[in-house]
Amino acid sequence: MSTAINIESLFKTYPDGTQALKGVNLSVEKGGFFALLGPNGAGKSTLIKLVTTLYKKDEGHLMIDGSDPDIDFKRVQRAIGVASQDNELDPGETVMALLRFQGRLFGLSKTEANKRAEELIDLFDLQPVSDKRTADLSGGNKRRLHCALALVHKPSILFLDEPTVGMDPLARSLFWEVITRLNREEGVTVFLTTQYLEEADKHASDMALIVDGSIHFAGTITGFKQLVHPQDASSLEESYLTYIKTLSPVC
Ligand code: ADP
Ligand code: MG
Repeated sequence: MSTAINIESLFKTYPDGTQALKGVNLSVEKGGFFALLGPNGAGKSTLIKLVTTLYKKDEGHLMIDGSDPDIDFKRVQRAIGVASQDNELDPGETVMALLRFQGRLFGLSKTEANKRAEELIDLFDLQPVSDKRTADLSGGNKRRLHCALALVHKPSILFLDEPTVGMDPLARSLFWEVITRLNREEGVTVFLTTQYLEEADKHASDMALIVDGSIHFAGTITGFKQLVHPQDASSLEESYLTYIKTLSPVC
């Protein structure tokens, strides 16, 4: 089985002394649907930023789609798409203009970039807001635009950092239809973080649990449920809560 993402001994301490990652090891299969779960502040977004080369790691070794980003940065950039949790969108640009611009950044011709922008607007149901400035979008539409921007260059690995925050139930359902289709039919590897555990339960097959910068569990979602509740069938949310409560017992 080939590996899309391999992470060995990844460490990150921020300049203010916060130790965000304390020796993380993880691997994600090519074509897999992987969920990184953990409480707020556990290190999920930091890990995504290091793996996608937005931030510099202190220590560790990364292989993304068979390449080391320290050696073949350009190749890694082409292979990945990232919908960050906190990326700012240029507030004065329209949805359509931003998507076209992103296509041009990735080397598409003007015609190709326009075509791709239109495809993504259709895919994410952004037609009603395609001429709106990003500053005037709802939170859910901003998240969908982030995902559309991440997909402009047809990456083989897609990072989604809390993608459905602010989406209404219909938008969320349509969003997951698009993402699961990309995963199942086009073989795109999905690396997801979410606090909506039912989303991870429904769509992902593998997971890791990160707490305070360390991996507590890595394996299948079924394996995690069985580890926490060996006797009964349980949801991922029930298993997660049981596990997390054992770490911080209520006094
Ligand atoms: P998560 O995404 O799991 O909520 P983060 O990766 O955002 O967690 O944060 C991990 C830890 O690093 C937290 O303690 C957070 O406060 C800290 N942190 C995140 N970004 C920075 C930063 N730019 N400077 C200093 N500390 C940071
Ligand atoms: Mg985060």
